[in-house]
Amino acid sequence: MKGGPRMADQVLGFIGLGQMGRPMAMRLLEAGHKVVVHDRVAAVVAELVAKGATAADSPREVADRADLVFASLPTPAILRTVALGPDGVIEGQRARTFVDLSTTGPRVAVEVAAGFVEAGRAAFDCPVSGGKSGATAGTLALMVSGPRGDYDALEPVLKVFGKPFFCGEKAGSAQVMKLCNNMLAATALVASSEAIAMGVKAGLDPAMMCEIINASSGRNSATQDKFPRAVIPRTFDFGFTTALSMKDVGLCVSEAEGMGVPMVVGSAVLQMLGVTAATYGKESDFTSVAKVVESWAGVEIKKP
Ligand code: NAD
Repeated sequence: MKGGPRMADQVLGFIGLGQMGRPMAMRLLEAGHKVVVHDRVAAVVAELVAKGATAADSPREVADRADLVFASLPTPAILRTVALGPDGVIEGQRARTFVDLSTTGPRVAVEVAAGFVEAGRAAFDCPVSGGKSGATAGTLALMVSGPRGDYDALEPVLKVFGKPFFCGEKAGSAQVMKLCNNMLAATALVASSEAIAMGVKAGLDPAMMCEIINASSGRNSATQDKFPRAVIPRTFDFGFTTALSMKDVGLCVSEAEGMGVPMVVGSAVLQMLGVTAATYGKESDFTSVAKVVESWAGVEIKKP
């Protein structure tokens, strides 16, 4: 974006308007940016157009009309096609910068960065944490890696989404950071399911258990947020699918293996997510892992 239009005049592109992308694109519109959007699902595109965005028919068309293009997509393979494939962002004439907000792992981040550098452009991997509620409120944590020289111009736009943390220039560094975080978050969910199922079977109130754990050394993101919000009320609607969590922990375990880092616990967590997907479907909310533990333990985690 160096030498490009002033930030306020920049046209921003957004590809992938799902649980995360939709509220993030909405925030850009609310902040007064011009936004060009694209998704495979027409209804969500129409919704954003009604709020002031313009629609594009392909990733290339987004990059023909925007200076800076964001993507929030489900898998590394989809991200690769959208970024580098036929009719992809790389073929657009206008965009100088591409920012991947998805969790896609370091391998594809390196590939995408190399493709954009070769085309004389910049690519950043910028996975986010904080879920749909953080995306809506603009309180996400954003982990960013990419060329430092282009980062300064990008940072003010990222602040519309939350708090950016620059992880380094090496492509994929931010993706590694995000995989470490998500492996820990999934581990907390699985381990808390086991601990709380045990407590409930012994007659303890799960809400009280969370309160005590959260004032003690076992506190974690599941006992602080997922159990009170989506497990104990039996809604299982935290807003993150089992498929996406399997993708994240799977990427983490396979990257760790390639690096010679043991991940005994991470592998067990991945197995638990696999059982959850087989039992409740890949599109189930990943808090459904608690139901797997419940069925094995013969107990329900709910208010007595
Ligand atoms: P999602 O499945 O809700 O959204 C993905 C969107 O991409 C959908 O609207 C889908 O129609 C669209 N899409 C898929 N293929 C496409 C293509 N070829 N071209 C255009 N659009 C396409 O997923 P999500 O929950 O919003 O997650 C997006 C990314 O963010 C994932 O990588 C996920 O791991 C990551 N993430 C999600 C959360 C969360 O809480 N949901 C939190 C942090 C990070």
